[in-house]
Amino acid sequence: MSTSTRISATKPRVVILGAGFGGLTAARALAGKAEVTVVDRHNFQTFLPLLYQVSTAGLAADHVVHPVRGALRNTDVKFRMGTPITIDHKNKNIKLDSSEILDFDHLIIALGSSTADFGVPGVAEHGLGMKNVHEAITIRAEVMRRFEDLCRFEDETRLSIAVVGGGPTGVEMAGALAELKRGPLHNDMAHAAEHIDIYLIEAGPRILPMFAESLSDRATSDLIKLGVHVKTNAAVREVKSRQIILKEGDPIPAEVTVWAAGVKGEPTAGALGLPITGTRVDVGQTLQVENYPYIWAIGDISGAKGADGRFLPMVAPVALQQGKFVAKQILNLVAGKSITDFKYRDKGSMATIGRNKAIVQVKSFKLVGAPAWFAWLFLHLFYLLGGRNKVGTVADWTWNYLTFDRGNRHIMDTM
Ligand SMILES: Cc1cc2nc3c(=O)[nH]c(=O)nc-3n(C[C@H](O)[C@H](O)[C@H](O)COP(=O)(O)OP(=O)(O)OC[C@H]3O[C@@H](n4cnc5c(N)ncnc54)[C@H](O)[C@@H]3O)c2cc1C
Repeated sequence: MSTSTRISATKPRVVILGAGFGGLTAARALAGKAEVTVVDRHNFQTFLPLLYQVSTAGLAADHVVHPVRGALRNTDVKFRMGTPITIDHKNKNIKLDSSEILDFDHLIIALGSSTADFGVPGVAEHGLGMKNVHEAITIRAEVMRRFEDLCRFEDETRLSIAVVGGGPTGVEMAGALAELKRGPLHNDMAHAAEHIDIYLIEAGPRILPMFAESLSDRATSDLIKLGVHVKTNAAVREVKSRQIILKEGDPIPAEVTVWAAGVKGEPTAGALGLPITGTRVDVGQTLQVENYPYIWAIGDISGAKGADGRFLPMVAPVALQQGKFVAKQILNLVAGKSITDFKYRDKGSMATIGRNKAIVQVKSFKLVGAPAWFAWLFLHLFYLLGGRNKVGTVADWTWNYLTFDRGNRHIMDTM
């Protein structure tokens, strides 16, 4: 069935593609002031920064997702579950895979990013990405299944788990895997746990290159203390089923390879015929898409650049700030006011390595250890959507902290 949705002419009609950090922020900022429809292929928002805890049995999967309709409750924003297929620029409408056609005065592209394999052979076949809940549950199942296999051996058989990518996601993942091995898996079956090796593989000369060198060093020594083998200057040439081949040096054994080496703009934007720069949508300083002033791109998919001429980082604060900014721009345009350029306010970065181990950097201010870890916990809890999720997360964290256990070690990817 094909329907055309024509709403009131008094308020601007805004369609937002993507109900992630950027899309939901824009929707809430426009609620009541525009006729807004949000489109997403999922009926929930995923809190990606805590996904690694789902992969490593620290958090239940349903604590990191929140229904889109719940997030938009008490607003007049409409929601459609679906995927955009084509944009009709002449008639200013967008067709969804349901065949529904949504008219718009403004279109906001907030489709996020997907895993980038940089053309490395074998990543798609043998690497496990971590961009959604399904992938996180797959990693958890794969690790636990290999552990169960290992428990059958009482000899020197070993299991290697490799995380590729020394950015915050890879570091958090490697640290959490090491703690899973040292605590819960050791309690389950000590001999097997002692025969697990965890590798963190980074192509560059140091992990966490976006942090000051002293903080990278601190994170490296924290990981080593947890038993992680940190390999820097180790560019991956190929991922095989049980091995990672490096451009230089000996291969690394890896029965499980988690690919946390990079992200690229979600390819749907290219399929919609939007101009692309690198892998992201080409926008000007106002975040309007080049040649299409009624289309805006925000968050990971936006090719916005900072004052240094480089793409802004694919992090949640960029998406949140851009969501608010674009909502304001659209309302200004409708009110006949002028629009401005987007300026990113970098409020700092943080990464956690494990229990009482984290690093925080805000300009030249640096924090490490337990205070940084509690700051990390608090901030993530603050931004997590949904009261039920916050309560569930605090319950899981408290349980994990007090018992050194992790209750979510289920293998749930098959019947
Ligand atoms: C594992 C991981 C850990 C991270 N940790 C941190 C962190 O600690 N701190 C930090 O600041 N940032 C972190 N990030 C990055 C941060 O999550 C992103 O920068 C942020 O989510 C970007 O927001 P967004 O709105 O652009 O996209 P998203 O929040 O990803 O939302 C995009 C939405 O678009 C939808 N979508 C995509 N394609 C389609 C389609 N074809 N049809 C319909 N809907 C579609 C998706 O379902 C999704 O809901 C992490 C990312 C990952 C993957």
